[in-house]
Amino acid sequence: MQSIDTAGAVLRIDLDALADNYRIIQRQVAPATVAGVVKADGYGLGGEHVAATLMDAGCRHFCVALLGEAVALKPALREGVALFVLNGLQPGAEADCAAIGAIPVLNSLDQIARWAALARTSGRRLPAALQVDSGMARLGLPPEEAAMLIAERERLDGIELKLIMSHLACADDPDAGFNAEQRAHFERFASHFPDVPRALDNSGGAFLARDHFDMVRAGIALYGGAPQRAPNPVRAVVALEARITQLRNIPAGAGVGYGLTHRCDRPTQIATIPVGYADGWPRHLGNVGSAFIEGIRVPIVGRVSMDSITLDVTDVPDIFLYPGAPVELIGPHQTIDDVAADAGTISYEILTQLGQRYHRDVRAAAVPHKRSITA
Ligand SMILES: *Cc1c(COP(=O)(O)O)cnc(C)c1O
Repeated sequence: MQSIDTAGAVLRIDLDALADNYRIIQRQVAPATVAGVVKADGYGLGGEHVAATLMDAGCRHFCVALLGEAVALKPALREGVALFVLNGLQPGAEADCAAIGAIPVLNSLDQIARWAALARTSGRRLPAALQVDSGMARLGLPPEEAAMLIAERERLDGIELKLIMSHLACADDPDAGFNAEQRAHFERFASHFPDVPRALDNSGGAFLARDHFDMVRAGIALYGGAPQRAPNPVRAVVALEARITQLRNIPAGAGVGYGLTHRCDRPTQIATIPVGYADGWPRHLGNVGSAFIEGIRVPIVGRVSMDSITLDVTDVPDIFLYPGAPVELIGPHQTIDDVAADAGTISYEILTQLGQRYHRDVRAAAVPHKRSITA
């Protein structure tokens, strides 16, 4: 990992905020439980310390997308903690999945058949979740396969169903009528398995004003992203601070950066900072995005380069401008949702693209019952 002196920027990861966000979501969805979605290395923040923090906060269920992620994470999980593999069971992956005790989300009759076959040959019941496609057309049993399964329940012989689940297409939009349609579809399917716990909601779904079945699979809201297009109920988990590499003054009419896509309409002071698209700072933010110096907005001028960005700092008082001066890219003045909106994307992409060249400064979570009062 980069040291604080050799890196272009410091990425602060606040595990205390992560733990608080888990508790906020847990309160929101109670009596349902919250499963922590830690795919893509904990949305780019580091799956192992994310999982350790969530386990300390009481989380006993985790989800990853791929079996490879489950293999990597499983040793870090405590006894009795469940690990679901959302993308299901690739042909040939059955034995590896069973060997680590991960719970595959079975998404098709073919996956069910292969998992049941392994249960038969190994002479033991194997745990699984079952996903129905309630209208998103991505993963899960399509309607005709769901109907066949309900008619031919013996297809599940040898499989111990731990969860029935589906996934919402429009959970970030409380006004989307499709949320209710998907819920109805899901409930119809789940009613054929009355004893099995049910899970429909992701972060967005967790903040829809209704009940949340037995489990919620929360990702982005744990990591500080707004779960819906509404005021954000959770705390920021990441902050990103770069340091000025170089300053220069250029005359009106001068161009900046590759292609000279920005032309100065006044004498301009330019600050260069050592963060670029190779660090996951979106190239789409050229001539669009911003940074902040001492709370003052400084626009990105010119294109985002691989390793640097140029900022118009003309309006910033000189005392704040010197090589090494701090520049906020993500922080109190600019959230991950703000950056995403400017870049035409979503906070998920901003987080999962955060680069490996940052110095990562991880702040541990406070242990609630060990908090002491200091004079
Ligand atoms: C990624 C994912 C989640 C988490 O979604 P968020 O919107 O980040 O809370 C939940 N369920 C499934 C099936 C997913 O793929």
